[in-house]
Amino acid sequence: MIAHSQVAVIGGGIGGLATALALAMQGASVCVYEQASAIAEVGAGLQVTPNGARVLNWLGLESTLSVKGLQAEAVVPTDGLSGRAVTRFDLSRQLPAYRFVARSALIDMLATACIKRGVQIVLNHRADDLPEADLVVGADGIRSITRGLLNGAGPARFTGQVAWRATISATSLPEARIWMLPRRHVVTYPLPGGRLNMVAVQERDDWAEEGWHHPDEPAQLREAFSDACGALQTLMMQVEAPRLWGLFQHPVARVWVTDRVALVGDAAHPTLPFLAQGANLALEDAAVLARFLSLHGIAAGLPRYQAARKPRVMRAIAAASANAVNYHLSGPRRTVAHLGLRTLGKVAPDAFIGRMDWLYGFDATS
Ligand SMILES: Cc1cc2nc3c(=O)[nH]c(=O)nc-3n(C[C@H](O)[C@H](O)[C@H](O)COP(=O)(O)OP(=O)(O)OC[C@H]3O[C@@H](n4cnc5c(N)ncnc54)[C@H](O)[C@@H]3O)c2cc1C
Repeated sequence: MIAHSQVAVIGGGIGGLATALALAMQGASVCVYEQASAIAEVGAGLQVTPNGARVLNWLGLESTLSVKGLQAEAVVPTDGLSGRAVTRFDLSRQLPAYRFVARSALIDMLATACIKRGVQIVLNHRADDLPEADLVVGADGIRSITRGLLNGAGPARFTGQVAWRATISATSLPEARIWMLPRRHVVTYPLPGGRLNMVAVQERDDWAEEGWHHPDEPAQLREAFSDACGALQTLMMQVEAPRLWGLFQHPVARVWVTDRVALVGDAAHPTLPFLAQGANLALEDAAVLARFLSLHGIAAGLPRYQAARKPRVMRAIAAASANAVNYHLSGPRRTVAHLGLRTLGKVAPDAFIGRMDWLYGFDATS
């Protein structure tokens, strides 16, 4: 029932391109408006978890993803002071596979598939209002104007955390390592081509501005982690040009849909990056929206989309925020938590992954 409708998508990020492709596959005529002069992605790596991979497979990108992504074998929570692995959670049996990909590769595979499906992509076009179309999809990210048009301007709250991101040349096992230190943590994982992706988070009281692009001195990063174990400090010695940004929490939008508008991805539900779900949830949005519109048409499908998605993304966002607390413990609580994790890993190695079933096992395509 979405077939032959005219759809305008504002934003050519992961959420916008996935939604454009999903709707084009249902027969809609889709145009994506992107403010940038090229479809390209800032940042380096992304973890595509099985719930996101399921959508990419449904979009016909299974073989490209398996070529462009490294299959993850484990998540390894590690004591960032001693360098000792606390436990190891096996990912090797996840289906579809959990993968590490370069953001640019993911964007490229989505854009290429969109073009093959006849999606028109208009660059250098900043939308300041809703375009004329049967359906407008607001996929314009964390500072979405579409969300503002539907909900009014909402305040963002500084979370008291800043993050550096960087990539370095390094070979590594296909594992995501979470280095936990008091009031800080670092996530590292390999990317294709011998690169290692690093995001280092520190609790901090002072920060003014939100944004991804603040160049920082590597010395500041090293100073913040000067008590870290040797292995982590060695990795940090290779960082040349880190970017620093303040982590802000935006509330989930109250209104996601009108009779002809839908928000997807960060525009609807920005999340902190501590569960690696922002892009995966955007992929899920794309599949659920396209399926509901195809089954019920625009007017009846849009409210169903919001009703289906909101509880799930609220749960994922709460889980991401809780991770920050758990990673940053200090003193006796830290000792107890690490002991608990270590014991869990020994006596019930599948329990952790089992606890993630609600997230990784979700199938947005059926
Ligand atoms: C450090 C870090 C690590 C992360 N790691 C992961 C991870 O491992 N796994 C994961 O799933 N998620 C991860 N995320 C989250 C993920 O990157 C985002 O949730 C995801 O990119 C959101 O996609 P989006 O398409 O909704 O928005 P965006 O990627 O922000 O795309 C929005 C697009 O809209 C365009 N745009 C904005 N306004 C306009 C306008 N008015 N007119 C036209 N175009 C406009 C922008 O230029 C942009 O291209 C991470 C985030 C961070 C910060």
